[in-house]
Amino acid sequence: MSDSGTRNLYTRRRFLRTSQAALAAVGAAPLLGTAAAAFGATTPATTAKKSAGAQPDYYDKLGVTKIINAAGTYTALSSAVMPPPVRAAVAAAALHPVRIAELQRKAGQYIADKLKAEGCCISCGASSALTLATAASVQAANGCRPTDIPSKVGTPAVPKNEVIVQKIHRYGYDNAMFLCGIKVVEVVTLDDYKNAFGPNTVMTNYFNAADEEGISQQDWLDVAHQHNIPCHLDAAADMPPISNLWKYTGMGWDLVCFSGGKGIRGPQNAGLLLGKKRLTDLAHANNSPGDGVGRGMKVAKEQLVGMVAAVDWVLTQTDAGWDKEFTRRANVVGHMVKDVPTVTTSIETAPIANHVPHLYIHFDPVKLGVTTVEVQARLRTGTPAIELHPSTGAKVGSEGLPSGTNALIVGTWMMNPGDEAIVGRQIHKVLTNPKSVGEYTPRVRG
Ligand SMILES: *Cc1c(COP(=O)(O)O)cnc(C)c1O
Repeated sequence: MSDSGTRNLYTRRRFLRTSQAALAAVGAAPLLGTAAAAFGATTPATTAKKSAGAQPDYYDKLGVTKIINAAGTYTALSSAVMPPPVRAAVAAAALHPVRIAELQRKAGQYIADKLKAEGCCISCGASSALTLATAASVQAANGCRPTDIPSKVGTPAVPKNEVIVQKIHRYGYDNAMFLCGIKVVEVVTLDDYKNAFGPNTVMTNYFNAADEEGISQQDWLDVAHQHNIPCHLDAAADMPPISNLWKYTGMGWDLVCFSGGKGIRGPQNAGLLLGKKRLTDLAHANNSPGDGVGRGMKVAKEQLVGMVAAVDWVLTQTDAGWDKEFTRRANVVGHMVKDVPTVTTSIETAPIANHVPHLYIHFDPVKLGVTTVEVQARLRTGTPAIELHPSTGAKVGSEGLPSGTNALIVGTWMMNPGDEAIVGRQIHKVLTNPKSVGEYTPRVRG
């Protein structure tokens, strides 16, 4: 990016910050015009202290480091920043008490209608959606009460307790199902799968972004539906494309979960369980504020409304618009480091989860005297702190991305507007002078 481009960016951000502060004072959301602005201008990490105004900055007060997210929608990195209309909806929801059950039902039905599903239960994340899907399926199969789950599951009172999963689709989120007292029945071949259905089967779980698909989705659905068993699809991180929000329910998946705080950019502790109304109604019955297994997974009014606003926001966006903006950011960073000896760049898009462009910065660690992992560590401890994609330096890339051996991987979709120029300059600085990172000094103070 040219100097004048950089300067315009900072000037624009100063304007946005001022106008945002003014609008925040009257409780309004800023309306932003540019593509980058769709994601919301925020206070740059470097100058945040100066702009606190009347509102204390609790991150600063607590001594918590604000980071630049050049990684992705990782829970440990607080996932997405909510866009301005979502932040405004969350703030407005905080002003009035409501009856939670009414809000849950109406918000769920609104989202279901928008996303072409019969029903929707807003959960406190995709992991919680998987728990509620399992509880709903246990209840549907056994006719038990929510309070029987998990204590009576697997006893003569609630005998049906088996969930069928492919061996290659076992993952850490299995714990979300085990909370309901179920057992997993593992299958490998299609024949195994056909033979796995029995009197105690309650549900199947399928991991959409698994490294290997194994049994095809259509075969999986056909066999289960011959036995009248509901199929849950975990598509937590699998948007964009936006149409995935209705594609899988349209294919016949009975239940599909999405994380609310990943690509949808809702509150981090929100998620969607979309699907057959008969089952999403049971998911509601097992959710907080009842005494079911979802009681400890409370979704507050702010998150319920925030999730509705996030779905509305997503439906104003386009895959092409996102792709253009994330690629532009990758090109800004790539352009800023391309004069470093041995550096070449490429853009790689993951096939299913995190299906967005990622910038790869390849270089010769021997010639530059620094390794990928050292660069990553230096950026992490610099000011502002920058987190690169966790597959940086890894022999095997995650989610179908190529290996990051000798490559820095820069995720651009979770950056705040303007972060790309800071990331480009800091990477350039470390690659050309590996011993020093230090403070980032913006050329134009905003
Ligand atoms: C992120 C993720 C989850 C959990 O989503 P949360 O909204 O953080 O609960 C579940 N499954 C998969 C495949 C994921 O990527």
